[in-house]
Amino acid sequence: MIDPDGRGAPARFRELPLGAIRPGGWLREQLVLQAAGLTGHLDEFWPDVGPDSAWLGGEGEDWERGPYWLDGLVPLAHLLMDRRLQAKADRWVDAIILSQGPDGQFGPRSNEDWWPRMVALKALIQHAEATGDPRVVPFMSRYARYQLAKLPERSLVGWAQARGAENLLIVQWLYERTGEGFLPDLAALIAAQTLDWGHRLAYAPNRHRAAVFDPFTHVVNVAMGLKSPAMQYLFDRSPEHLIRTERALANLDRDHGQVTGMFSGDEWLAGPGPSHGVELCAVAELMFTLEQLVRVFGVASFADRLESIAFNALPAAITADMRAHQYLQQPNQIACSRAPRDWTYSSDEANIFGLDPHFGCCTANLHQAWPKLTSSLWMGTLDGGLAAIVYAPCTVRAKGNDGDALELAVETAYPFEETVRIDVRAGPPVRLPLLLRIPGWCTEPDLSINGVPHHLGPATDGYVRVERQFRVGDHLELTLPMSMRVLPRPLGGIGLGLGPLVLALAIGEDWRPLSTDHGFGDWEVHPTGSWNYAVERDGAGVPSAIRTERHAVATPAFALEHAPVRVHLRGHRVRQWTVEQNSAGPLPPSPLDATGPSEDILLVPYGSARLRIAEFPWVATNSSDSPLLARMHRSSREIASLDGQTVVAAKRREADDDRGGPTNAVE
Ligand SMILES: [Zn+2]
Repeated sequence: MIDPDGRGAPARFRELPLGAIRPGGWLREQLVLQAAGLTGHLDEFWPDVGPDSAWLGGEGEDWERGPYWLDGLVPLAHLLMDRRLQAKADRWVDAIILSQGPDGQFGPRSNEDWWPRMVALKALIQHAEATGDPRVVPFMSRYARYQLAKLPERSLVGWAQARGAENLLIVQWLYERTGEGFLPDLAALIAAQTLDWGHRLAYAPNRHRAAVFDPFTHVVNVAMGLKSPAMQYLFDRSPEHLIRTERALANLDRDHGQVTGMFSGDEWLAGPGPSHGVELCAVAELMFTLEQLVRVFGVASFADRLESIAFNALPAAITADMRAHQYLQQPNQIACSRAPRDWTYSSDEANIFGLDPHFGCCTANLHQAWPKLTSSLWMGTLDGGLAAIVYAPCTVRAKGNDGDALELAVETAYPFEETVRIDVRAGPPVRLPLLLRIPGWCTEPDLSINGVPHHLGPATDGYVRVERQFRVGDHLELTLPMSMRVLPRPLGGIGLGLGPLVLALAIGEDWRPLSTDHGFGDWEVHPTGSWNYAVERDGAGVPSAIRTERHAVATPAFALEHAPVRVHLRGHRVRQWTVEQNSAGPLPPSPLDATGPSEDILLVPYGSARLRIAEFPWVATNSSDSPLLARMHRSSREIASLDGQTVVAAKRREADDDRGGPTNAVE
């Protein structure tokens, strides 16, 4: 698998060093919450990452938990330029580097497992990118030689065998910097000892709910293993790896897919039912995998999925203030409580919110998700340009091929609004290409440059290319119109999407603290309203919104009480849809006969609703309102204001004009 002529196949994009992208707007507020919440304080009350950790030389935890936390703490500290967090991270980095023995091995000698060292090295890479610490590359090089010497006799086993792709990623990063000739040999050895994810997921997938443990059906392994083909591609250039990756994701969607773009796993692959759980570690790891897939293959659909998971599944599993999380989230989640549920393999407390419900892996591992997303918002192109991968407010500073730095400011409330404004902030005039990702759900993107409409040709691999001389003061406005769309589900229900957001029925939430003194606290969440609703749709069409409200994004961005997007639909209670094993029972077959009166129901972003229905049965209507509602839909795109009152008022005026009556007459 060794590339014969040098340094392997180039990835389609190159990562920008940690710190080249700075969060802005709502995203920065989210990271500030994270710093004030679990990430910034975990070591103060959770011994597994506390001062007694074996990674710091103590007698405590000597496996994955310290490195997991560090893998999120390092980027968070540097993205926020938070000296308190940087000091915490540096203590760990120093301890890890100083722990290296003459043979190259590092970390706790009480535990020689290869796996947690992969995580520790991922954290060190980020530290090196942010600080330029000259110790890191030689440290990694010595460890790589240690691995090359030892792996033949002490091979990857257990988690390390399942997750060897992380080790390949580390070797590839090092190879790009040193070009050391033994590194492709080491990569080949690691690849040979790693489970063959590409073949298994693409050509021999698990079609059904797993009944026994198997490393190939462990949901976090799957989320990580999906990057195996991409990591191998960097060394052998085989186009088969992209084919396998796309096929693997399609198989997972078919057999275990969830409405957010995740696949189920509680904690084994569990089928497509919306009451099955998704482990938070799998969310965080699949996000990182997708960031790597975009970097290596460049295919924009991986970024579409990344946005869907980041803006829906991720915030849903963590409280809005980032002080507690779930081990398992359910797309249809009607209560979070200590009670038996139909998990493949998890305990009765797996879906409550708290410090370490069920098991502490997610407590340690959730921290990487938002910071690494931030670092992946933009990537460099091989011809010296920049590619917009995920849209969110930030500034990005990057050098083109000629070495001139360009700074862009991205101002937007995306995913809660349709327009992304990009300003050239600093740098000399420079000619370079900008690739702008056009999401797969967006059929009519619109771009203006300095107020002049810019003709967008067809997207290539999901990106449009704008190449020109950029200079300070240039202003680009990209509008990605978001029409509500149906997300068909494998069991006959439907999800509803609005741009990258998945919409969910908001069920009132009663948060009941549990009597523990655990971290920031543990809670059960009980419903205060009904959840068993079907949505109305006209034939097989898109449900018609009565009105869509958009509000300015407040902090926290994903709090239910001020959800920035609110969609009112018509729904019907479905009394035969009942609770089974403390979860929403299987969806009744659709289309349903309407059994109850038509009611106004409120949908909010999935990530804002910790209790919710996100996969619905539906009732067919033959509404004569469709032309009107289609027009209302179109007009919502034309209203750029984030002021919800403006949107509501405009819709109401339009409805009144057409019907001679108030909006609430629309049924
Ligand atoms: Zn976990």
